[in-house]
Amino acid sequence: MNTAITAGLAPATPQDEKAPFAFTLAYIGIGANLGDARANVLDALDRLQRQPGCTLMAASRLYRTAPIDSSGDDYINAVARIATTLDAEVLLQALQAIEQAHGRERPYRNAPRTLDLDLLLYGDATINSPTLTVPHPRMTERAFVLVPLLELAPSIHIPGHGAASQYAAGVAGQGISPI
Ligand code: ADP
Ligand code: MG
Repeated sequence: MNTAITAGLAPATPQDEKAPFAFTLAYIGIGANLGDARANVLDALDRLQRQPGCTLMAASRLYRTAPIDSSGDDYINAVARIATTLDAEVLLQALQAIEQAHGRERPYRNAPRTLDLDLLLYGDATINSPTLTVPHPRMTERAFVLVPLLELAPSIHIPGHGAASQYAAGVAGQGISPI
């Protein structure tokens, strides 16, 4: 499928199909701690790659982390960098559709989950809508986000917060290890 068309930017002429199109680099936090968590995270990366309007540019290693504000087994976490032509809200809907494909249920806040996909960063955008907050509000407090993010992008800046690396020391006490 043509990614420009998927983004609602239908080409006016056949030649336009060949034109470069605007994309945004976005970072997606992936986590799972129900079922085969490792397989669920790997499948999420695969689905991101196949998502129309998204190209998977890089993925961190997979990490094992102890639950924070949550219960159940350890989590498997990773962060992906994608190039996308999708609007941020449309991208969030795509992420939620991938969660649904894994039977994600939300019985209560911070319940164990088969698959959780969070939009961490969308270019340098700051978004505060009823459905979407970007940068993700808790990303500077979570080792399971910061460690894989810094693996992919050591010098990345978080809009409104500065260099992501300056938050690494604050989460150093949270157990996280690559698998
Ligand atoms: P959490 O990931 O915080 O544990 P959920 O995955 O259940 O919780 O998300 C709850 C709601 O958070 C979603 O319905 C979504 O609309 C909202 N939300 C706000 N900002 C974001 C974001 N940056 N990424 C993902 N979901 C977000
Ligand atoms: Mg989520």
